[in-house]
Amino acid sequence: MQEDPIASSNGIKINAGSFRILFDPTSGRRLGEDWNVFITHAHSDHTYGFATSARKHSTPETLRIYESLSNRKVKNERTVRIGERVEFDDVEIRVLDAGHMLGSSQFHLITPEFTALYTGDINCVDTLTTKPAQPVPCDFLIIEATYGHPSYVFPRRDTIYADIIRWTMTEIRADRLPTFQVYSSGKPQDIVRLFNVYTKIPVVCSPAISRANHAHNENGFRLEYLDSSTADGKRALKERGCVYVTTTRRDHVPRNASRALATGWALREAFRSFTAFPLSSHADYNQLLQFIAGARPKAVYIFTGYIDVLSAQIERKLGIKAGRLPAHAQTKLLDFPKSAA
Ligand SMILES: [Zn+2]
Repeated sequence: MQEDPIASSNGIKINAGSFRILFDPTSGRRLGEDWNVFITHAHSDHTYGFATSARKHSTPETLRIYESLSNRKVKNERTVRIGERVEFDDVEIRVLDAGHMLGSSQFHLITPEFTALYTGDINCVDTLTTKPAQPVPCDFLIIEATYGHPSYVFPRRDTIYADIIRWTMTEIRADRLPTFQVYSSGKPQDIVRLFNVYTKIPVVCSPAISRANHAHNENGFRLEYLDSSTADGKRALKERGCVYVTTTRRDHVPRNASRALATGWALREAFRSFTAFPLSSHADYNQLLQFIAGARPKAVYIFTGYIDVLSAQIERKLGIKAGRLPAHAQTKLLDFPKSAA
């Protein structure tokens, strides 16, 4: 049976020529050295490929953030900068900016038979740490749809930034510790930069976030913050008058904290004991439709999020065939570890 050129199987599997290529493996399943994995960004649900024996391709920023957060040294890696390309005979993979976090990338696949664009996670507006993702024309577009529902249209980013600063100042005046609980990389650095650029409020960050901050500073940022594990960081938290950025682990939160979340879900969901701001690193519904229209693909494949809702909207509004990725070739992959030796 003829294989689909692109299939969903432990990530996005590309059947192009004799090369074994996977974008963003979705599990730590064993992959031998004859596989080429491409990792879009440093969020943990996209970095399983770094733990395999395969040849690993990512931007240097993604590799650096992953290594600093995992305390691991990645072997058999090849870094590729945004704007550069990797060639496998007559197959070419170009690395484009995804706008989702520092180092995040999209992969533009060019083969003699077809072109495809795999977005990974994308964001299409300016943030304080990223530039918007741009679409490129392609035959097949493989895109996320985390917020691919008409009810997710985010307010302007500067409005959200202003709301965050206003709330923080109110909490400080009330002698509480405004505390943002977020993932370690991406959004926290946007929040640190927000306070650095627009206020004089000192920012204290938990150790994991401080490590990701450091990786950002090595890549040209000038994030100013105190690590909560240092004497200065501890003193600032005690004296208050600062903002605290920490991870989602409960035990990191001091008693006098007034807790906040920054997530796109805040648009429609209430979070008990949190103030929630709809600050997202993902494209909203309008951004997704605009991006797809710009790529002008023959077909759209959606790998996560509101797959059915967005597919129907794409077909109705843009007249483009859309749906989930074909998921065969599973057997071949499952057999792979035995024949790989
Ligand atoms: Zn992500």
